[in-house]
Parts: sequence; structure tokens; C-alpha cells
Amino acid sequence: MAARPPRSLATEGIVLRRRPSGEADATLVLLTPGEGRLDAVARGVRKPQARLRGHIEPVTRSRFLIARGRGRDVVAQAVTLDAYLRLKTSLQALAAAIYCCELAERLSAVHAPQHELYALLTDTLAALDAGANPEGSARYFELHLLAVSGYELQVVACAACGADLPEAEAFFAAGAGGILCRGCRADTPGRLLSVRAQKVLRFARRVTVAEFAALRVPPETAAEVRGALAEALRAVVDVEPRSGTFFESVSRP
Ligand SMILES: [Zn+2]
Repeated sequence: MAARPPRSLATEGIVLRRRPSGEADATLVLLTPGEGRLDAVARGVRKPQARLRGHIEPVTRSRFLIARGRGRDVVAQAVTLDAYLRLKTSLQALAAAIYCCELAERLSAVHAPQHELYALLTDTLAALDAGANPEGSARYFELHLLAVSGYELQVVACAACGADLPEAEAFFAAGAGGILCRGCRADTPGRLLSVRAQKVLRFARRVTVAEFAALRVPPETAAEVRGALAEALRAVVDVEPRSGTFFESVSRP
């Protein structure tokens, strides 16, 4: 006899997004470590006196008890673990956080473990909350998001043949998954990446988000890194994240 699925799920999770549903309900898009992304209905939370209200704001990490009904998950309890209140006092940090949450929503698996992505997102939100540079934090998140989602960018060896790359300006092809050596590049569309930009990307691979965000990157190098990561994301996410444009506009007024 097949085991019955559990009737409830106790898990921590991050509210990636919240949308109104019905008269007074909201549907939360949650990222959880063990169950990946899931939608859960929070009943009555759009009424001003609702008890759950403060615990289910977007960009909040909470402990949830979720009742699993017929095809519908319902939030039975929620208690805030971290509201990231400091990051929410900075428009740029908040925009970066919302952007990371939107990317996480797009690249996360539904009802499948997402431990690495969850750790990446909590680390990034914690760094932003501690005052880390929003742009650096977002770039770090993008690079590592690609890696934990199975699209690790090749920036040390050629993405096609694995050959070592000389320390020189290199050819970056987002569609090919990273840098291509001279022999592999042929007619592949791509862009040139300076030695400095390559070093920034390699550095991001081996340090923490806070360490990376503390790195001072010259504006022209930051622009190269931003462009390369944006193209790499575009190659795997079909639609440009809406919050990305907003984050860009508050980052470079
Ligand atoms: Zn090659």
C-alpha cells in the first residue's frame, strides 16, 4: 500500500512574492530548502487585523506550518525568523533583494529540494541586511544562482573544449556557457571580456557574498561583469525579470 502523503509540512521558507487571491486571501510564493518552491494560500491576511500578516511579507524568512489539502497548500501558522528590516530601509538594497527573489522564483524547482539555492538566497539577504553593496551582492547572486541551477559559467577553462585560457582578453559566449578559446569560438555570438572582468568573476566563485560585495570594482569592469551575467541569465531565463529594470534604475540614477 502506498504511503499517504503527509498532511502538513513544517518548514522554514522565504516569501519570494505575494499576490492577492480571493476577497481577503493572499497566495505566497515560498522558497523552502527541502521542498523547493511552493505556492501556499494565506487566508484572510488582507484584513487589517489578520494575525499572520506581519509574518508573510515578501523578503521575509519565516517558519511555516503548511496544511496540505487537495491540490492546495494553506498556511496554518507562520512565525518570522528574519524580516530583514535593515535592508528594507534602503531602496537600493530592497530592489536588489526583490530582484534576487524574482530570479530565485524563476530558476527554482517546484517540490524538489533546493538546499543550495536556499542557502545562497539567505546568505545574500543577510549580507544585504548587514549593509553589503547591493550591486556586488546581486552580481554574486546571479553567478552562483547559475551554478546551483546547473548552468555554471566557465570562466577558468574553455566552455567547449576545456583548454586552459591564457591571461588575455577573452571571448565570452553566454549561449555556450562561458569563455571560449580561440579555436572554439568560430561564429558564436558573444562579447570580449577583459582580464580584469575575468578576475572579478573568478574571485566571486571562491569567496562569500559579503567578501565579494566589499570588492572595489572600477565602473567599466563592473559594467562588463554586469553585461556578461545578464546575457548568461537571459540564455536560461526566457523573460527578463521585471524587478531587474527597477533595480538597474535605482542603482544608476
Ligand atoms: Zn576551446
